Amino acid sequence: MAKQRKAKRGKDAERAELIVQRLAEAYPDARCELKFRSPFQLLIATILSAQCTDERVNSLTPALFRKYRSARDFAEADSKELEQDIKPTGFFRSKARSIQACCRELVERHSGKVPTDLDEMVKLTGIGRKTANMVLGAALGKATGIVVDTHVRRVAARLGLTRQTDPDKIEQDLIKLVPQDQWVPFSFRLIHHGRYCCTARNPQCEQCKLVELCPKIGLAAEGKRAKRKAGSRAK
Ligand code: SF4
Repeated sequence: MAKQRKAKRGKDAERAELIVQRLAEAYPDARCELKFRSPFQLLIATILSAQCTDERVNSLTPALFRKYRSARDFAEADSKELEQDIKPTGFFRSKARSIQACCRELVERHSGKVPTDLDEMVKLTGIGRKTANMVLGAALGKATGIVVDTHVRRVAARLGLTRQTDPDKIEQDLIKLVPQDQWVPFSFRLIHHGRYCCTARNPQCEQCKLVELCPKIGLAAEGKRAKRKAGSRAK
């Protein structure tokens, strides 16, 4: 039994290695699609991107960052005015609260600067490992972990790279399979793949570069669920 488990682990690692390679060939230039000029701007843009598209966030952040230039500006802003400024991104009241709490902590504990250490970042209000890995990886090139967003969750499950549903546990599974020097590009390539190929509703398996490596876990069940939903809507 132990021998079989070891052999399976070996096969999973080999398959993961090929997936990392194929993604690198398919999307050599994939990167964070949020626009930013500093780690601080990316931190704010990432908070705004929750439940919102990157395009929408990008359409609003240039003006936002002209108006609020520092953590202190956000921390001291009138909260109602900030809410209106970020309203198009949705959930604007809770996002404004998170941004102001986080910026107050940046001012009080870090002289207004974004910490460059993951453990310090995740102590900030509203900042989890996803945002911390995103900011440290995309803005500072630091491989502190793998960004587990909605796309990575879905695609990693379909590819059979994890059976977990909790983002932190998914990340732990992925970092065991992917070499550390690939964590940052792998994150953005998997996000890109999920956004443009392995989409939630209509994955493009016929055109997918990973098709022979993919067990398509859960796809059949997802298809049946979608059909049932469509059927009940038609009645
Ligand atoms: Fe997604 Fe299909 Fe590609 Fe698997 S084969 S990664 S399910 S698009």
